Amino acid sequence: MASSIVLFGPPGAGKGTQAGNIVAITGKPQVSTGDMLRAALAAGTALGHEAKGYMESGQLVPDEVIIGLIEERLTQSDASDGVLFDGFPRTIAQAEALSEIADVSVVIAIEVPDSRIVARICGRYTCANCDAVYHDTFNPTQTSGICDHCGHSEMKRRADDNEETVRTRLAAYHAQTAPLADWYRHRDLFVAVDGDQDIDKVSQLISAVL
Ligand code: ADP
Ligand code: ADP
Ligand code: ZN
Repeated sequence: MASSIVLFGPPGAGKGTQAGNIVAITGKPQVSTGDMLRAALAAGTALGHEAKGYMESGQLVPDEVIIGLIEERLTQSDASDGVLFDGFPRTIAQAEALSEIADVSVVIAIEVPDSRIVARICGRYTCANCDAVYHDTFNPTQTSGICDHCGHSEMKRRADDNEETVRTRLAAYHAQTAPLADWYRHRDLFVAVDGDQDIDKVSQLISAVL
């Protein structure tokens, strides 16, 4: 079984921001359950319908929905050499299911204190064309409103990136996701990097792990 990588951390830790670099180094495709759910929502599928209320309020989507989504994704040909999981697994049940269907070689945890999270998430915006991630103050586009990567001029913000929903997402993280750190530590798969520093510094630390 080809090995996969898990990118772990609270909402707003910088998982999506760091994923591009990891994909470039490893050649493994990024599999973001959040992106997949948002695509389902935008496409108006039954799955999107089921996930909508949870996502809008900041709660986790039920495990069986997420596990089904991942099982299907891993059957695609580009996943045969392993993938980069971003935002999955988020519960022990998801990690147990994953261990049955894929081989995880390392879990890279981006650690950021709660006190930083609201500012990070409430300033987040992305390119509507290529999904490059920016921040109003910490990582703005070089030319206002124009994507550095693709030149597109339309940016978007997520409906759930507001202070109230962030608090619910952080609570869900601490109650349901953070316990996974010990679950992976016991399996000797857990590597933590300090995410409370410049984006480039975090990239360097992650490159060293890889
Ligand atoms: P996640 O995928 O973990 O939710 P993102 O990668 O979308 O997080 O990052 C959340 C926000 O924080 C984005 O606006 C991003 O530009 C910004 N950000 C990411 N990494 C850093 C960092 N090291 N320092 C400051 N801001 C960051
Ligand atoms: P972030 O990392 O910025 O919190 P994501 O894009 O990963 O955001 O997730 C957005 C929302 O999608 C979550 O708040 C949750 O409702 C749902 N979601 C994404 N991944 C999962 C997962 N593995 N398990 C349960 N819910 C998920
Ligand atoms: Zn772009």
